[in-house]
Amino acid sequence: MRKLLGRLVLIGAISLGLTACSSGANSDENETIQVTTTIAQIADIVENIGGDKVKVESLMGPGIDPHLYKASQGDLSKLNDADIIFYNGLRLEGRMGDILNKMAEEKPTIPVAESVPSDLLLKAEGETDKMDPHIWFDISLWLYAVEEVKNTLVEEDEENAAYYEKNAEAYINELKELDAYAKEQIATIPPESRVLVTAHDAFQYFGEAYDMEVTGLQGLSTDAEFGLNDVRSIVDLLVERDIKAVFVESSISEDSINAVVQGAESRGHTVKIGGELYSDAMGAAGTETGTYLGMFRHNIETIVDSLK
Ligand code: ZN
Repeated sequence: MRKLLGRLVLIGAISLGLTACSSGANSDENETIQVTTTIAQIADIVENIGGDKVKVESLMGPGIDPHLYKASQGDLSKLNDADIIFYNGLRLEGRMGDILNKMAEEKPTIPVAESVPSDLLLKAEGETDKMDPHIWFDISLWLYAVEEVKNTLVEEDEENAAYYEKNAEAYINELKELDAYAKEQIATIPPESRVLVTAHDAFQYFGEAYDMEVTGLQGLSTDAEFGLNDVRSIVDLLVERDIKAVFVESSISEDSINAVVQGAESRGHTVKIGGELYSDAMGAAGTETGTYLGMFRHNIETIVDSLK
């Protein structure tokens, strides 16, 4: 008898617990759309357009290399819990392909970079069939990603369409202003010095958009080891063109860049490390460079200061 009573009490407690839980969840989660993104650049778009209607989390924080990133157990639950998933695509998240494909069967899972018309994409360095995924460094291309995020939010939450449209318009205006600022600033560097040497080829689109020659030490992906030939040819370039600075990136090691600096030194040409550029990852959340606009502006100012 006592045992039965105990069990009844237990069942009562469980069902009470369940009721409390589900009523709590209803009030909040039904109104806010949960979004999970891979890189923080995309989370920044979602935050700006989604405002308080959307809760967004990006899997990849500062200093993370998306080419090599593998989803953790915690990431899987964030992907599972999301209403919408946005990722870059064009094989940027090379090791998350399977999990993203699987998610696409269950919920809107959108590769934002794949909305860029294919004739505007550049081939990945040294590849014939792979396209370069780093489209966020040409603002005119990134606007396609912004549009894709807005369209998806409008589709999934029509009730708030006007809100998303208005936010998107304001954000697009800021991006266009930044685009004009970037063009104007880079143009102040003498044409022969407009050479950007970085450790991996994240800046091809940047070079195209803002009229800079771009050379990287490694292949497009940080997966590849850099070779001595690459170091030698870049040292030649620095000496011949009298380039004053090379750049490190937040998401990869400085070893390759240091090899170039020492190589130039041994030929009597001083090259400085022109500061850290953000390439595949942004700065810490809550700081200036933790936003897309701040990160981009930081890159422009770092490049102009070092090469002018
Ligand atoms: Zn990259």
